[in-house]
Amino acid sequence: MIPYGRHQLDEADRQAVLEVLNGDWITQGPTVSRFENAIAEQVGARFAVAFANGTGALHGACAAAGVGPGDLVATSALSFAASANCARYVGADVALVDIDANTLNVDLDLVPPCDALVAVHFAGRPLDLAGLKERPRVVIEDAAHALGAMTPDGPIGNCAHSDMAVFSFHPVKAITTGEGGMVTTNDADLSDRLRLFRSHGMVAKPEMAGWYYEIESEGFNYRLTDLQAALGLSQLQKLGDFIERRNYLADRYRELLADLPVRLPPVVAPGWLHAFHLFPVRVPDRHRVYDYMRDQGIGVQVHYVPVHFHPRFAKSAGANALNHTNHAYSELLSLPMFPGLTDEDQSRTCQVLEDALG
Ligand SMILES: *Cc1c(COP(=O)(O)O)cnc(C)c1O
Repeated sequence: MIPYGRHQLDEADRQAVLEVLNGDWITQGPTVSRFENAIAEQVGARFAVAFANGTGALHGACAAAGVGPGDLVATSALSFAASANCARYVGADVALVDIDANTLNVDLDLVPPCDALVAVHFAGRPLDLAGLKERPRVVIEDAAHALGAMTPDGPIGNCAHSDMAVFSFHPVKAITTGEGGMVTTNDADLSDRLRLFRSHGMVAKPEMAGWYYEIESEGFNYRLTDLQAALGLSQLQKLGDFIERRNYLADRYRELLADLPVRLPPVVAPGWLHAFHLFPVRVPDRHRVYDYMRDQGIGVQVHYVPVHFHPRFAKSAGANALNHTNHAYSELLSLPMFPGLTDEDQSRTCQVLEDALG
């Protein structure tokens, strides 16, 4: 089966992990700090705080920003459920917002009055947060798809129009640490709170005694390990090549699918760079096309079952006015898109899609 997404590891990645494994420190330690610094530098943010996964990082971002009971958190109805779950983790309510039918990103003109916005860069297509007319108290970018994406204001993750940006290093994302996540921010207080939150809210008090610490705030164990951070550091060196390959494959899909009744993702304007975490197309008779392609060994996927389809979110504010999301969901199909996808496998994917439609 050709998967829709897949990690790309090489010998240097394996060596990097082995070096940590042969050392003294395998849980969160100096390599996590190096990875945080490298991500901060990569995206042009002052601070980066590593987490065990992207979902924990979203939880940490909501908590650090003081989002809580009584707050309303708006997010896109077309996303992985983690974008909405993070609001529930801190006791806030969720408002689901419809998408722009063209870009599949949240329609910023439809964001209701709210306390926080979790803004998703769907498929790696950077959302233009400068277009947000009324800025809520808190803006968090769910940038799980968008490491490596660029805007005219710089890389996604520099928080030019947000308080924090959240990344995931799950194996289908741009770079991987197995499981892993990161929050970037330019705010020193948020950075401090994120660090406390990911490790029990624990503060060492060496002035009391060498062993002494106190729990000062709510916290969890959301730490990344040095083993994972070593993999992340090695992977990060290849991020530029990975994004270039993804854009090459996107251009080639456009050529190969030009004559088919398939709606392609629109190209981004000059000055923007799409990270192409996914290559979502819209096809007629999607259910049948999905089954046909899977039978032929093409591991297409549907991103996503919309948030309001999940019983946990069915009664969220806005759930009954999501026409563009519902329509897109009936047609969406993610074609294979990952740096190791060969031209041959991509051509075969397109041939099978043509057969499915024909
Ligand atoms: C992958 C993903 C997450 C969660 O990341 P994990 O590292 O898997 O916890 C959050 N939001 C979106 C949009 C994602 O695609």
